[in-house]
Amino acid sequence: PVRVRFAPSPTGPLHAGGVRTALYNYLFARQQGGQMLLRIEDTDQNRYVPGAEGYILEALKWLGINIDEGPQQGGPNAPYRQSERKEMYMEYAEKLIREGKAYYAFDTAEELDDMRKRLEAAKVAAAQYNAITRMEMTNSLTLSAEETKSRLESGMPYVIRMKIMPKEDIRFNDLIRGWIVVHSSQIDDKVLMKSDGMPTYHLANIVDDHLMGITHVIRGEEWLPSAPLHVLLYRYLGWESTMPQFAHLPLLLKPDGNGKLSKRDADLGGFPIFPLEWTDPVSGDKAKGFREEGYLPQATANFLALLGWNAGTEQELFSMEEMIRTFSFDRVHKAGARFDIQKANWFNQQYLKQLDDQEIIAQLKPLYQQKSIPVNEDQITQIVHLLKDRVHFVREIAEESLFLFHAPETYDQDVAVKKWNEEAANAIAGFKDALAGFEGSFLAHDIKDKLSATMENLGIKMGKIMQALRLAVTGAGAGPDLMIIMEILGKEEVIRRLENALD
Ligand code: GLU
Repeated sequence: PVRVRFAPSPTGPLHAGGVRTALYNYLFARQQGGQMLLRIEDTDQNRYVPGAEGYILEALKWLGINIDEGPQQGGPNAPYRQSERKEMYMEYAEKLIREGKAYYAFDTAEELDDMRKRLEAAKVAAAQYNAITRMEMTNSLTLSAEETKSRLESGMPYVIRMKIMPKEDIRFNDLIRGWIVVHSSQIDDKVLMKSDGMPTYHLANIVDDHLMGITHVIRGEEWLPSAPLHVLLYRYLGWESTMPQFAHLPLLLKPDGNGKLSKRDADLGGFPIFPLEWTDPVSGDKAKGFREEGYLPQATANFLALLGWNAGTEQELFSMEEMIRTFSFDRVHKAGARFDIQKANWFNQQYLKQLDDQEIIAQLKPLYQQKSIPVNEDQITQIVHLLKDRVHFVREIAEESLFLFHAPETYDQDVAVKKWNEEAANAIAGFKDALAGFEGSFLAHDIKDKLSATMENLGIKMGKIMQALRLAVTGAGAGPDLMIIMEILGKEEVIRRLENALD
């Protein structure tokens, strides 16, 4: 059965790229009838950020990504936090040492620095601690067995390095990128266990993927350079026959397509790149979240899913179920995907249109409360009908309905110059008088009938005075259905506004 994992490091909030990785893992797992687990990769204690794990869990939940196994749900491979699995990694590192595939290294920071400087002076690039240089360094390959033993016993700090054999071909088939071939001479002797007794990402990741029965590793392109090393680790550990398949997802690019999307783009552009708002525990800085900015979770998931994937049709709106059905690695692009927040806004608009009125009303009520605007149930329902199709966000309904609660104090001058003339003033005065005698229901179509009857009496064409009438009622030259606006305002208020405008 397919088993995938989402393996974030709790170093801060989940960003758009991370969410998309989680989403693709989820879509694939569900489609294949498999399982998805969440593993917290917290072996780098220096980069650990309190609150990040909780944030990740909440974000996934908000987006509708349901995890089968993880630190909260538990599961057959618990624990799911790497910091709680420390001993297991040591066991495998020692196994590699016994088999001559890894070694202890005691080099101090200065020694490593010296080597770097020597190599730089000799203009040797890239690989540093490798088959050639390791022979000049302080490690269990150059020290005698007794010396190594006594150093270990005396508690001298050490790391465990992988002993990369030269002249090996590493090849693997990436589900998105096809065959990748790398030569082992390009890889240096990576550290597997750090001096603090914690494994590096590489060792922990491979040991866990193996022990947790992971069949597919789906992750961002930034991990592609590590993949050959991971393949070698599977080989050295004797696990090559059950090695998972890899799929490296395309990068998310800046809105203009130039370079990787970064938090700074969001800061400068004022748009969110995190699912939820994030407050930095140290600086107290706040970063915007899709949720707080008013994006709907379905719209956010749909938007992110299409950053790097399409169904091969014109279809853009997909429910989670439809995405699960249609997702395939064949249609994941190799090239980076441009992060276009306008597109996210478009998705939100589409989902908002489909949203139940009651749901919108529930979200609107607190917004009016914040603005201390009293609205009753009827008004709020009418407002939703008036504005729902014209906005991208629920909050815009509240913002764009403010004119209903405050009579205009100014009038759009551009429109006034063009449309406000004697004929318009006469028409509006006539309409105002007609309204004064108006009895019965004050519904949009009644108002419209009254208006056209009045204009016919006065011999004025409706089309010529409509904008002036709108100006008088709302202060603006354009907006939603004016008849419905007048219905919501009620007779007395409309008359009052017309009088003001005529003054
Ligand atoms: N901990 C890594 C991350 O933060 C996991 C990468 C992987 O999926 O292998 O993205």
